[in-house]
Amino acid sequence: MPPEEVPLPLEPYKIKAVEMLHRPSAAEREAALRRSGYNLFNLTSEEVFIDLLTDSGTSAMSDHQWAALMTGDESYAGSRNFLDFERTVQDLTGFPFVLPAHQGRAAENLLFSTMVRPGQMVPNNMHFDTTQAHVLRQGAKPVNLAVREAYDVRAELPFKGNMDTARLEGTLRTEGKNVPLVMMTLTNNTGGGQPASLANLREVSRISHAHHVPFYLDMCRWAENAYFIHEREEGMGSRSIAEIGRAIFDLADGATMSAKKDGLVNMGGFIATRDASLVPRLKELLITFEGFPTYGGLARRDLSAMAVGLREATELAYLEHRIGQVRYVASLLDQDGIPFMRPPGGHGLYLDAHAFLPHLGPDELPGQALAVEIYREGAVRTCEVGGVMFGSEKPEPGSPPPLELVRLAFPRRVYTASHYHYVAEVVRRVWKRRASVGGMEMVEAPERLRHFLAKFGPASKKGDRGHGTPSPSPPELQSRGRSNA
Ligand SMILES: *Cc1c(COP(=O)(O)O)cnc(C)c1O
Repeated sequence: MPPEEVPLPLEPYKIKAVEMLHRPSAAEREAALRRSGYNLFNLTSEEVFIDLLTDSGTSAMSDHQWAALMTGDESYAGSRNFLDFERTVQDLTGFPFVLPAHQGRAAENLLFSTMVRPGQMVPNNMHFDTTQAHVLRQGAKPVNLAVREAYDVRAELPFKGNMDTARLEGTLRTEGKNVPLVMMTLTNNTGGGQPASLANLREVSRISHAHHVPFYLDMCRWAENAYFIHEREEGMGSRSIAEIGRAIFDLADGATMSAKKDGLVNMGGFIATRDASLVPRLKELLITFEGFPTYGGLARRDLSAMAVGLREATELAYLEHRIGQVRYVASLLDQDGIPFMRPPGGHGLYLDAHAFLPHLGPDELPGQALAVEIYREGAVRTCEVGGVMFGSEKPEPGSPPPLELVRLAFPRRVYTASHYHYVAEVVRRVWKRRASVGGMEMVEAPERLRHFLAKFGPASKKGDRGHGTPSPSPPELQSRGRSNA
């Protein structure tokens, strides 16, 4: 079917600086896979044509952000860039106390080191991996309370990032004294970039506060979440993203932020809170680990680029286009019935590797096999979010079966519609020859952070299925049949 039927997401910007891409040949891709131990984290960017590994810190900054970098007042203390940044975060969130940090996990370290003690538990809709690591590091237990539909890749529902409020109520009734804070991750990154509704956030806030438990947000993709509320929630269509943002933050006591996401910068983050009693301890840790509270591990100029980025992330034209890009690829894949988590998420599309490669058992690492195959086909780098990333944890009894996904994360303002057309074509080609795709096995398995560090190889045990061979000619946009240079 001609893909022209799907409307192109029209870029609301023009391009001022370009970075040339290299498109590796089939032989180069095969060599890169062997060299990297079939772990796409080990590829060099030279070996990648389209990089959808992550949307974190991979954004293109705007002309206004680059201009802001030139306004750096690099004073150690009291820089005007800090004041500008602080005012922006206060204005967007309403949180009075704002402490910059070099990235999201540094902000998480401050929050959890300050609030959490050994033996406690922290509920979240779904913990992101660094958030989970910080809860565990304090000797506490991360508990995922996402609604059950969050684990159903086919359920086409508007707010699959919601928390199960009945389970939250039950948890706080029995364990309330042992819960130092409740957290919600906006959007739910681990669960497919799915949003939470304002109604759900209101209920989580009410329940937490009724049990005298503070309510915090992991606000990395708060603007994308607000866009979904704007689009999908009753009465929200006439409210701006910034207004919806404020309605969200008004429900919470504070937040941690990786500005590498909806802050549209390559590095940066912060923690913000209403709780004055936390601030001295937060500042003490900040100074120990990051730097003085008016720079927090960043150059002062970076604070201004972050302030501009935070505001740009709330622009409707930007968000419409961004989420439109994800939907564009989803529509192209839909034409072939390619399975992905529904509905498409805010920052990416998550292929359902179980359904894509049903002939592979869980021990044949279908997510890793699919990610490798997509790279082999077209030098598109994606990320397994499944058995390799989360498989070393023992599932709770009665918990839903783990998701086996391959994430196509969309960097902000980086790739154009023709790049995404190419990506869809690469995935479709793998889909057409999916029956011939063999499994993978881990040949070097470190105990922790294994998705970053493990090495893989083609699975040996079911042997004869062999391994994928990329389609003879690489996907082309205009000139089909031209061979790869
Ligand atoms: C990226 C991310 C973090 C951690 O932020 P870093 O800037 O990578 O340290 C925390 N939570 C979520 C949901 C994220 O996506």
